[in-house]
Amino acid sequence: MTIEIIQFPCLEDNYGYLIHDSEENLTVTVDSPDPVVIQQILQDKGWSLTHILNTHHHWDHAGGNLELKSLSGCTIIGSAKDAHRIPGIDIQVGEGDQFMFGNQPVLVQETPGHTLGHIVYRFPVENVSFVGDTLFSLGCGRLFEGTPNQMWNSLQKIKHWPDETLIYCAHEYTQENARFALTIDPENQDLQLRCKEVDQLRSQGRATVPTTLGLEKKTNPFLRPHSLAIRKMLDMMDASDEEVFAQIRRLKDNF
Ligand code: ZN
Ligand code: FE
Repeated sequence: MTIEIIQFPCLEDNYGYLIHDSEENLTVTVDSPDPVVIQQILQDKGWSLTHILNTHHHWDHAGGNLELKSLSGCTIIGSAKDAHRIPGIDIQVGEGDQFMFGNQPVLVQETPGHTLGHIVYRFPVENVSFVGDTLFSLGCGRLFEGTPNQMWNSLQKIKHWPDETLIYCAHEYTQENARFALTIDPENQDLQLRCKEVDQLRSQGRATVPTTLGLEKKTNPFLRPHSLAIRKMLDMMDASDEEVFAQIRRLKDNF
């Protein structure tokens, strides 16, 4: 059995995702960034929404929950730690939880950092994952609530997934991230190539998402604090990975 994934841009720079299982007639939306756009796609496809999988509580991720729930009666799944601020939450999940979407498992991992209750969803059979605002192509989420230590631990969990894992993140930030990444890791040829590709895709109005974990491990400075080139650049040869990560995050915040 395969699932169909529809990716669509919405709001200013968000990506929304609808996942459909035709055998079981299930449809989930990952987050609820723009309920009007989501409703329109559901209508065009003739699908009815059965679930919302929330990654975190920010308005551009959970702001459409109640409207979609009142229209469809869908079940809302979100982080137990954020239950108090995920509108309409029905099922609370946390680290290591697993539930079924049709006949395939979905794995939940907690990735605090961007927010304290941030979670990510992975479909290991299809090798796809929905990472919200934790990992972006060539970037990572801003630390609105968590510490660098928490975010670094969260990213390390993601780094353990197979390299082929498709990473569906929640924003098209890649081109902006690429400009920063080049200042941190200018000699990285994989990064240079990816930046060219990103410029080309964006000039054609095309998405740079999904990316793969393997590509991010080679190009995303936030996954590469061990890189000697980056350490030399930052004059942090003897620092820990976590310290280098924290410094890259600080530099990006002021970029
Ligand atoms: Zn967010
Ligand atoms: Fe967001």
